[in-house]
Amino acid sequence: MKFHHLVEKHRDTILETERYVWNHPETGFKEWETQKYLAKVFEDAGYELTYAGNIPGFYTDLDTGRPGPKILIMGEMDALGAPNHIECTNGNAHACGHNVQCAALVGTALALKEPGALDGLCGSVRLMAVPAEELIEISFREGLRRDGIIRYMGGKVEFLYRGYMDGCDISYMVHATPRQDGDFFISAGSNGCMAKEIHYEGVASHAGGSPQNGINALYAANMGLNALNAIRETFVDDEHVRVHPIMTDGGQTVNIIPSAASLSTFVRGKTLESMKKTNRKLNRVMAGAAVSLGAKVKVVDRPGYSPLINDATLIRLTEEVASEYFGADRVNNHGKWGTGSTDMGDLSCVMPSIHPHMAGCSGNSHGDDYLVTDPVKACLGAASVQVGLAQKLLSDDAKLAKEVIANADLRYPSKEAFFEDIDQLMNDKDLVSYENDTITVTL
Ligand SMILES: [Zn+2]
Repeated sequence: MKFHHLVEKHRDTILETERYVWNHPETGFKEWETQKYLAKVFEDAGYELTYAGNIPGFYTDLDTGRPGPKILIMGEMDALGAPNHIECTNGNAHACGHNVQCAALVGTALALKEPGALDGLCGSVRLMAVPAEELIEISFREGLRRDGIIRYMGGKVEFLYRGYMDGCDISYMVHATPRQDGDFFISAGSNGCMAKEIHYEGVASHAGGSPQNGINALYAANMGLNALNAIRETFVDDEHVRVHPIMTDGGQTVNIIPSAASLSTFVRGKTLESMKKTNRKLNRVMAGAAVSLGAKVKVVDRPGYSPLINDATLIRLTEEVASEYFGADRVNNHGKWGTGSTDMGDLSCVMPSIHPHMAGCSGNSHGDDYLVTDPVKACLGAASVQVGLAQKLLSDDAKLAKEVIANADLRYPSKEAFFEDIDQLMNDKDLVSYENDTITVTL
């Protein structure tokens, strides 16, 4: 039976899942209700699940009984904090459409359990519900880090670190999009990012009576922002650098010179090297601002997500599967570079991966008007491509999966080498120290 007929048989369950998850939006590492719902559908279909346990998420294997590569297919569970979204629940909404991915993952799981679905295939498929793709609520995640629950900020990179993807040879998922100029979209890849907090420390004093005794941390932070804007022209165009700070603390009491001010930003770029280079510049300007005022400044840097590079062979095969389902004229293999970031990027560092987009939504991505307007297209379409691609890769003695693996151009020889590299982005340090007339800046 063709892959989309296998999916079509489960239309009702897929669409119910889409609505349930839409109506129960939970932000990253808190997706317990979503996990519970998905797990029940999986278990009712006969899957045995391995749970992450102390964070949401699970995986399960579907073995063809014949040796061969292991394909990893994922669905993200997390929503965004979006209190002004037109259909928000408890301040959250699926303004990135991850509820569609949950439904597509369910559709994939149910379709692959159908009699005959694995006929002629070898190897295995790992299905995984992953938490926390959106890089938000950084202080909550820092708390999880401090408590030893997670080491990394994103669900997939944390799962990779924990070993839940060990043994997987190829990974993919299909993300929803509000784009209207086609049904299915394939890019070249997208930026990586790191999360950065910048804390200025000054000296509090009466703002009217004795400002001369204070050191204004807010002004130092302000100068840091201005200095950052003054170096933007040094960002090289084709490195796609994005730095977009917000001020998270600028003083508490109007008649006190602020002794603390904080900025929070991402540093995005096309390569890890461009992110590291930009981060070093950022440290320099932030330190310079602190020195101007005699303030201290501390940075808290965390690896976010590595740049995503969609695998060239998977791009071709995915386009073929999507064209079979939607028609070639509805598949937009545009090959452009995206400037957002996803932790699929981390997986693409260590195994051939692809992260295409499926239409069926409307509004602005991450906007207050984001809606799933065509759930049949979005959910059944994504599930069909996921199933069709697995069948294509693993049929004929997994000829095409083996081709993908043989042709893969990975950035790291091993998971260990990957983590060693991104761990260089993990820093907690004071940038400036004062001793008599000597000021020392550490980048
Ligand atoms: Zn998303």
